[in-house]
Amino acid sequence: MKRVVSILLAFCLVFSLSGTAFAANTCNCDKSPIIYVRGFGAPLYASQTNEKIYPPEKADFEPVMAKIVFAALFLLGGFYRGFADLAMQAAEKLFEKVPCDDTGVPIVASNVLEMGYPSADYHKSDSLRTYDFPYDWRVDPMETAQQLRNFVRHVERVTGHSKISFVCHSMGSVIFASYLAQYGSDGVDSVVFLAPAFEGVSIMGSLLSGEADIGDKGDEVTMFLQSLPMLTDARVKKAVDVSGKLRLIHLLLRRLQPALDFQFVRVFRKFLRPTFVTMPGIWSFVSDRYYERAKAFSFGSDKQYTELIRKLDRYHYGVQTRLVDLLRVAQANGMKMSIVSGYGISSMPLSYEHTMQSDILIATADSSIGAICAPFGETLPQSHVQSVEDGHDHISADNLVDASTCAFPEQTWFIRDLMHFNFPYENEAFILWLFRQKTQPTVQTNAQYPQFMRQVGDDLLPVTE
Ligand SMILES: [Zn+2]
Ligand SMILES: [Zn+2]
Repeated sequence: MKRVVSILLAFCLVFSLSGTAFAANTCNCDKSPIIYVRGFGAPLYASQTNEKIYPPEKADFEPVMAKIVFAALFLLGGFYRGFADLAMQAAEKLFEKVPCDDTGVPIVASNVLEMGYPSADYHKSDSLRTYDFPYDWRVDPMETAQQLRNFVRHVERVTGHSKISFVCHSMGSVIFASYLAQYGSDGVDSVVFLAPAFEGVSIMGSLLSGEADIGDKGDEVTMFLQSLPMLTDARVKKAVDVSGKLRLIHLLLRRLQPALDFQFVRVFRKFLRPTFVTMPGIWSFVSDRYYERAKAFSFGSDKQYTELIRKLDRYHYGVQTRLVDLLRVAQANGMKMSIVSGYGISSMPLSYEHTMQSDILIATADSSIGAICAPFGETLPQSHVQSVEDGHDHISADNLVDASTCAFPEQTWFIRDLMHFNFPYENEAFILWLFRQKTQPTVQTNAQYPQFMRQVGDDLLPVTE
């Protein structure tokens, strides 16, 4: 017995010594380190074998090219079943390593946990990317938040700081909200949410509810394609313009609609559900407007999904529907917080919500937690008066957004014409300014950064009309 105790003591001694050996000196500078929690869709590689899981590359398309061509021909010829079968075979091959099992666990695990943590010292460069938190976006956000916890501990150790800041883009906000729900905000200095996804992503709910609708959206899809900044290639741009004029896109969509009508449920059950719908990460994008309906459509009463649904509910009812409370509690506990939301771009024209003002992916009403927005292409009606009168002007000069109804109207900024995917790559000066305020910054703090700004080239300018 005595020997056991002395061995235990020796162990404790060794561990406590090695603990101090790794700890950096405490740093008392006023720049808390910033962890970057990125959005959905980072490339994934298989654990151990290091094979690419996602996304498919050019070379992966070659073996399935014939199937894609024939699928397109079948579609144009109106052979919807043949089209669906070939398209599914091609997609199954392209995404073969992506799926989760019926309980929401990736079948081919990724190596994000084996990649090791960055050890760079952020004091040398005030960058938003020094501590880029790697995660597998397929996994349950509540589990990913546990990994974020370990990452936070690591950054505390290498920097000597006990207070950490976070910049969360898109799905990153889902992960951070899951972190708050499980660990609270002790040790969180400041957080900036960029185009946050924590109130859902417009198209995902309609897709998982089986409500995608495209048949009569030729004009919208053409407009949408034309507005994509990825279309920098002049020839591709021209091709979209010409096919819009010739109404080829209209024709294709009208062809696709019956394919959706007759084949969607089969494609959903056979391909979409086992490949994407069993990913818990995807479900964090389903807004409460759709959630129960989407679950009913996606899983029916199939018993094999019981464990998965338990995970989905844990996030949805433990985090998404409690979001404002979680943030308010954290705020009362001293956490500084800013939300930056996009507007002025139409949503993807796949659901009946496509007329919502957005950053192309997330509706502005969702990313801002509650702004009133004019439908895309319109302005707020002449008769509109600010919904909540608080002595400030919270209506944008272009008359598209009334921010007075936001959960945090003084801490929510809006950037017009900035695409969802470009948020973390632009405006670093503004984001760093948000981080480096000693007290909570508001939309009144700095005339250079008012509530409504417009992205013009590399600059942010106040919206004046
Ligand atoms: Zn420091
Ligand atoms: Zn106000």
